Amino acid sequence: MDFENKVVIVTGGTRGIGLETVKAFYENKATVILFGSREETVNKAVEELKTENINIEGYYPNLNNYEEVEKVFQEIHSKYGHIDVLVNNAGISQKGPIENIKAEEFESIMNLNVNALFNTSKVATKYMKEQGKGVILNTSSMVSKYGQPSGVGYPTSKFAVNGLTLSLARELAPFNIRVNAVAPGITNTDMVKSLPKEMITPLIETIPLKRIGEPRDIANAFLFLASDMASYITGVVLSVDGLARS
Ligand code: NAD
Repeated sequence: MDFENKVVIVTGGTRGIGLETVKAFYENKATVILFGSREETVNKAVEELKTENINIEGYYPNLNNYEEVEKVFQEIHSKYGHIDVLVNNAGISQKGPIENIKAEEFESIMNLNVNALFNTSKVATKYMKEQGKGVILNTSSMVSKYGQPSGVGYPTSKFAVNGLTLSLARELAPFNIRVNAVAPGITNTDMVKSLPKEMITPLIETIPLKRIGEPRDIANAFLFLASDMASYITGVVLSVDGLARS
């Protein structure tokens, strides 16, 4: 795949799936811009990538502040002249029974996992419409298919991600802007690495492909959906989960 001269923004690019997505696009010649939540973590990720000969820029706008998002996109657009691909990847999860979840906690998960996507997608749409093309990719989850037995905010937010994906895909198709999502299964990021083996082994047994996903599995799906090979694909939530959703 060739993303030469394409500008790709990846939110939540400092670690896990986002960081691997940054690397994958860079390896395929894209100009990649990483967003993270804090200056410190963004600088650390950018410096670490430099040691791997990956030279990219990082920003840390508050994704829930529309004006801040607008300003950063404006800065990127005036520097490169176009914004081709937006990967909305930043997200947080939630644990516990509903009685233990505070209203503010429910609100904060919806803020990052859903409202932030509205902000970045709205700003990106403006530039993509001017260009007459663009790709917006969202990160859903396998739990967006059937819910989960605790932490109600997380699957609720990912059902909303699917809704936003399908609706924006319909709205933006006439402007040659494709909108798709990837729904990862359990993926080997820091969160999963910290879980005890006794918990992971039985989980793997329930996955038909008998392994958990690697961040590169998800990054590859983003690459494909962003590429011209997927030029007739929009409004899709692509499961990348070893069939764990069933
Ligand atoms: P992670 O915790 O390793 O990384 C999350 C990223 O989001 C980080 O780069 C972080 O900087 C960013 N982020 C967190 N809070 C933020 C905030 N307030 N503002 C801006 N950025 C913020 O997570 P991950 O496992 O790589 O997950 C990435 C995406 O994939 C998420 O949307 C997650 O819901 C989804 N997902 C992950 C799994 C999994 O098993 N890891 C499964 C399904 C879906």
